[in-house]
Amino acid sequence: MKGQRVVLASSNAGKLAEFDGLAKTIDVELVKQDDLGISGGEENGLSFVENALIKARHASFQSGLPALADDSGLCVDALDGMPGLRSARYAGDDASAEDNIDKLLLAMKDVPTERRHAHFYCILVYLRHPEDPSPLIAEGFWHGRILESRRGKGGFGYDAVFFDPLVGLTAAELSADSKRVISHRGQALYELRRKIYRLK
Ligand code: IMP
Repeated sequence: MKGQRVVLASSNAGKLAEFDGLAKTIDVELVKQDDLGISGGEENGLSFVENALIKARHASFQSGLPALADDSGLCVDALDGMPGLRSARYAGDDASAEDNIDKLLLAMKDVPTERRHAHFYCILVYLRHPEDPSPLIAEGFWHGRILESRRGKGGFGYDAVFFDPLVGLTAAELSADSKRVISHRGQALYELRRKIYRLK
């Protein structure tokens, strides 16, 4: 794997920075699919893992390289797992993070504190080639609850209303370094790194 180019099946520039640490530890060169002229595949799965597999397979097929894909979102128990796969577009296709939070708080306005449990979920899929029958799959969970109003200025997405009772802060109040360690994405990256090492 040393020095191997791996395509990152994401068009989100911010993601590259998050995955850079992984790339360095496992000694691969991550290339964004955009930079290879590859557009995103159609994400028509019904679960995060299906969508990540679709994205990784598409990028690997188009590039002829191994591929890494991720998918993530927020699942709220009282809303049967919503916004889930629709996390980025919960309040509509062009919705901002603020619109999505407003819609979430409205949907939960009558839900009491003890029923406001939610988790962030992240899945990572690594395919050695488009027809890899045994992809490496790693997942991460971050459990917490949805507050009644926003707290904190950091982070992105739903961070300002996601409260972690173990640290007593919202995701938007955590430093970027602390969030990286405890978040769903941090957990999934850690697990994927372990799995890749086992293969070496
Ligand atoms: P994606 O994995 O980039 O498709 O992310 C889907 C959506 O889930 C994001 O647009 C956010 O709304 C939400 N999300 C995922 N991870 C986080 C997080 O760490 N904090 C806040 N929101 C998140």
